[in-house]
Amino acid sequence: MSTPNTPSVTGTAPVVDETPKDDTMPFETIEERFIDAMGEMAARAHTNSSMHGFWRWYEAHKHDPDSVVIWKLSRHALINSETGECTEGVRKELPDNHLSNRSMEVAELADIVIRVMDYAGGHGLPLAEVILEKMAYNAKRPMMHGDKKA
Ligand SMILES: [Mg+2]
Repeated sequence: MSTPNTPSVTGTAPVVDETPKDDTMPFETIEERFIDAMGEMAARAHTNSSMHGFWRWYEAHKHDPDSVVIWKLSRHALINSETGECTEGVRKELPDNHLSNRSMEVAELADIVIRVMDYAGGHGLPLAEVILEKMAYNAKRPMMHGDKKA
């Protein structure tokens, strides 16, 4: 027995989706959506970081090439520090300090991604595009990328 909202399928033609195509959808592939979304999220990460004062030193020194290198190295150190925190979280099976429903492991991985997006957003680097290029390159590499142990 069918309910009033259940259409009868007896003797009916297959349902054809005649919904007009949405011409407002700007992306056709997941890669295009990824580039768009990652670009937007990198901009947001950078805006938030800037608004909290973390780019003040860079803004004051960005016209000196040596200072820019020092700045970038300091950002790399901070990204590295997040990997150490992730390692510690796994070693001790800790919850995150700020998101108590999340493990420290995943929260620190998120910190890494946020810091990388901030860096790319702040320096205008095409992070999403290069991620896709690297993934495509890696997909074609040999097993264990040749003689690598890990
Ligand atoms: Mg952290």
